[in-house]
Amino acid sequence: MTDYLRTLFLHPPSIEGFDGGAGARYQARREVRSFWYPTWLAQPAALVPGSRLLDAPPADLTLDDVRPLARDYDLAVLHTSTPSFAHDVQVAEALRAENPSLRIGFVGAHVAVHPDASMAASRAIDFVAGNEFDFTIQDVARGRPLATIPGLTYRVNGSCATTPARAPLEDMDRLPFVVDVYHRDLDIDRYVIGYLLHPYVSLYTGRGCRSKCTFCLWPQTVGGHRYRTRSVDHVVAEIAHAQRLFPQVKEYFFDDDTFTDDLPRAEAIARGLGKLGVTWSCNAKANVPEATLRVLRENGLRLLLVGYESGNQQILNNVKKGVRVDVAREFTRNARRLGIKIHGTFIMGLPGETPETIEETIRYATEIDPDTIQVSLAAPYPGTALHRDALARGWLENEALVDGRGVQASALGYPHLPRTAIFDSLETFYRRFYFRPRKIFQIVGEMARDGAVARRRLKEGVEFLGFLRRRRRA
Ligand code: SF4
Repeated sequence: MTDYLRTLFLHPPSIEGFDGGAGARYQARREVRSFWYPTWLAQPAALVPGSRLLDAPPADLTLDDVRPLARDYDLAVLHTSTPSFAHDVQVAEALRAENPSLRIGFVGAHVAVHPDASMAASRAIDFVAGNEFDFTIQDVARGRPLATIPGLTYRVNGSCATTPARAPLEDMDRLPFVVDVYHRDLDIDRYVIGYLLHPYVSLYTGRGCRSKCTFCLWPQTVGGHRYRTRSVDHVVAEIAHAQRLFPQVKEYFFDDDTFTDDLPRAEAIARGLGKLGVTWSCNAKANVPEATLRVLRENGLRLLLVGYESGNQQILNNVKKGVRVDVAREFTRNARRLGIKIHGTFIMGLPGETPETIEETIRYATEIDPDTIQVSLAAPYPGTALHRDALARGWLENEALVDGRGVQASALGYPHLPRTAIFDSLETFYRRFYFRPRKIFQIVGEMARDGAVARRRLKEGVEFLGFLRRRRRA
């Protein structure tokens, strides 16, 4: 059997409540405390026997808690992101100071897009990995010479060298189950997403998205635009296994970019899940036909997470969303008729935004009325077409994607619409969506039906109002 380096997979400690981990598409401290599973780190962790996955923010671990662990390992793999990179570098330097012989590597879209600049940030970083890093990290953990491993940028003789890129993984069933890593290393009780039942477990059944939305990070970096998928049997077997590991789980979430990109496969997985009797949810585009929605619903689908982004067709065209507003309306009506809940996500400040389109989108959201919403500020991540356009056209008024407290910041501004106006629209959006009699009755009704939901909603309500108050003061 191969010997492996003693390997620590670390989502570094950060600002309190910061969900910047290896599963967060949009790294920020949320309106209410939320954490995604660090699935991108769990996948290589599952390939390295004897490793440990440590997800510091949900566990409320500080740098002082994590620092002593450096002495117990030969290799530390840190997941980073654009908003958290500077902080993650400080963590790497602290680990190196604790154990000078610890080898430290960074993974994630940020370092895949900017390998040389990332290496230049600190001598504590020994290597950074490219897009598809699971087997790259396994090779490093096996102790193979870095020069022989595809998909790496590493230090050699005082400078940096880059090996050939690693080909995208086509046989996705080669990735072992992540739920075993979750069971071994994580406390699933700490993972909370307001619109999912608790406790939930999320994982991926495939990588990549066929759409080409200009703002969306993963398909333009780590995932690509082909939907590379695990087999139906592999997915259903993992959920069956998870049922044995986590009998208390109330909901499984498939966090593929667009789980409904392959409708026959989505229906086949649903039928397998239906036999297991699990409740589940997934990401979807607002164009799933009614017939497919019916099959998914009849087989345990509870909720769809849908990126509507805007209610203005020209903005959707500008960002290459590939969805018509009228189709999204019909999809939403169908889902509601079938009893499928929707968490709708919207983005303020995309190219083409004006005060009038902001108003149009708020009206659209209240008209289609998803059960819950999330409103984000347009975030030009390096590696995206939106970032390139923003640089070329002078829209980037502020480089930072989050503020000093880890809360999303407005980076884009336009000659006719300053970033401060975009920032303010977020609060207006939330207030006008949630502070309506119809919505308040709906939330109170849910709370009356379920005591556990009532306790969560009250806690989240307090956090949400605190978030609005803090924005007022900002
Ligand atoms: S459809 Fe969703 S996941 Fe796919 S590129 Fe667009 S925003 Fe990203």
